[in-house]
Amino acid sequence: MVLEVVSTGGTIASTGDSGSGVEPELSGDNLVADIPELEDIADVRTRDFSNIPSPHFSIDRMWELSQTVRKLDADPDVEGVIVTHGTDILEETAYFLDLTYGGETPVVFTGAMRNPSLQSPDGPVNLLTSARAAVDADARGRGVLVAFNERVHPARDVTKVHSTNVDTFRSPESGPLGVIDETRVTWLRRREESSPTLDPDAAQLTNAVHAVTVTADMNPAQIRAAGDAAALCFAATGAGHIPPSIVDPLFDLKDDDIPLIATTRCPEGRLARRTYGFRGSEATLKELDCYFSPLNLQKTRIAAVLGVGTDSLESLFEQP
Ligand code: ASP
Repeated sequence: MVLEVVSTGGTIASTGDSGSGVEPELSGDNLVADIPELEDIADVRTRDFSNIPSPHFSIDRMWELSQTVRKLDADPDVEGVIVTHGTDILEETAYFLDLTYGGETPVVFTGAMRNPSLQSPDGPVNLLTSARAAVDADARGRGVLVAFNERVHPARDVTKVHSTNVDTFRSPESGPLGVIDETRVTWLRRREESSPTLDPDAAQLTNAVHAVTVTADMNPAQIRAAGDAAALCFAATGAGHIPPSIVDPLFDLKDDDIPLIATTRCPEGRLARRTYGFRGSEATLKELDCYFSPLNLQKTRIAAVLGVGTDSLESLFEQP
């Protein structure tokens, strides 16, 4: 059975061969060479999808990647798919696929924090972790996964928490889904309800979904800038609170039928529904008909892009 490694770029594929600073240059074949343990796990096949740093990923490219992985799911020889990806926006692409892929074949994202020219690069061990997770019998039905630093996380929960350290991917509150013990995957959580699978028309996908983090005494111009947006996602303070300066601009967007999707800027926890009543509290968010998101801001935006593109925001978010 085949394990297909789809390489997209990022630090795992980066070298300094072209001059100053490292850049993605290595092919999928380069990434899997010199990892003999991979051969004990499965027959490895590689596919060079792109060679870009992940901040260059667009919504269109995420869609193209999702289509590529769907095609692999239709190949009966493919037992698992590994996507190597830059770590910076890995959680966004992985979650995009979680919401659009819907296949049976396990899909595991991975990458590296230390490029191959440094001491102790982490790409090879992360590839091994992903391979072990992808071929494990219990990987199926758990949605798109992210394997990093010998831990396995669900795309929905995982987030990058450190800018440079190898132990950068965490699932706040819930913890990892699985860990590698020696060469085995030990699953720490039961299967959860899977994310809905959306089937957008590519032409309806837009990056005109804005996302902002609410700050003290926020300048209302930041909200007004969403006047021609397809939707606005915002990460409110605490349990769903915003300064008075942005309340009226948000009502203006509501009056213009621009969907508003709120989450918290706290790394853990969700929005309150009925505790506070001050102007700018969760009571105001309800008056604004905000959708309440349990996801972090960057993943809220991915879901909103797909929700707008399929006219199904209400199937992705509650509107209390
Ligand atoms: N530092 C990034 C990485 O870890 C660059 C990127 O996201 O492509 O791969």
